[in-house]
Amino acid sequence: MRKQIVAGNWKMNTNIQDGIKLAKAINDFASNYNLENKEIILAPPFTHLSSIVKEVDPKKISVAAQNCAAWEKGAYTGEVSAEMIYSSGAHFIIIGHSERRQYFNEYNATLFQKVKICLKNSLHPVFCVGELLAERESDKYFEVIKRQLVEGIFGLDSENFGKVIIAYEPVWAIGTGKTATPIQAQGMHKYIRKLISEKYGVTIANETTILYGGSCNAGNAKELFAQPDVDGGLVGGASLKANEFIEIIKAL
Ligand code: PEP
Repeated sequence: MRKQIVAGNWKMNTNIQDGIKLAKAINDFASNYNLENKEIILAPPFTHLSSIVKEVDPKKISVAAQNCAAWEKGAYTGEVSAEMIYSSGAHFIIIGHSERRQYFNEYNATLFQKVKICLKNSLHPVFCVGELLAERESDKYFEVIKRQLVEGIFGLDSENFGKVIIAYEPVWAIGTGKTATPIQAQGMHKYIRKLISEKYGVTIANETTILYGGSCNAGNAKELFAQPDVDGGLVGGASLKANEFIEIIKAL
């Protein structure tokens, strides 16, 4: 049975002290909560990774980075490698977030490089795909998502693809307060699962966790997560408030 996950993407928010407080509050909740087939992931900034890893119970909460370098190591001043991230105790990594695509010119070929380096370093990629508002309005969204998947991740063999989580995050819904309707989310998730099935077979498709992201909050999470192909959420803004994030976890 595929895992259900709620992942919090803290983006460039919190200092280390506030990040630790936030992680502690979520860990306190998780320690008394039956997670069964569910998983919580926290994705703080790089600077917080090893501190947050020490704060949380690894049986309940995993830690993720939000990005990594497209190279293994060497003279790339300011970059952080997948190996460094894994050595911090993080086991997941967000790759291809729309803010990376938009502000840092990360395109599918670079993202595929990153995915391969992450897997080589035992990090599980949370690979993000999503269409722009204009692409949604001009009915190009299925074709855009297909291209992001084909170029960004479908070059993996089956064994490695089995280690990946997909996050569908329509760009028009990220940080805008405008959520995809449960029907829109389900329509895209079902399509993504169909593409995975065509490429890797039905067993792998049914085992792949596909998260929804885009203004997911305590008020809309339950309805979104109730969709048959929505396996949880990648949450931005609402993951910065412990109480709200906890409500989202309870909606799984
Ligand atoms: C995100 O950044 O992945 C995200 C979904 O942000 P928000 O929840 O704030 O829309």
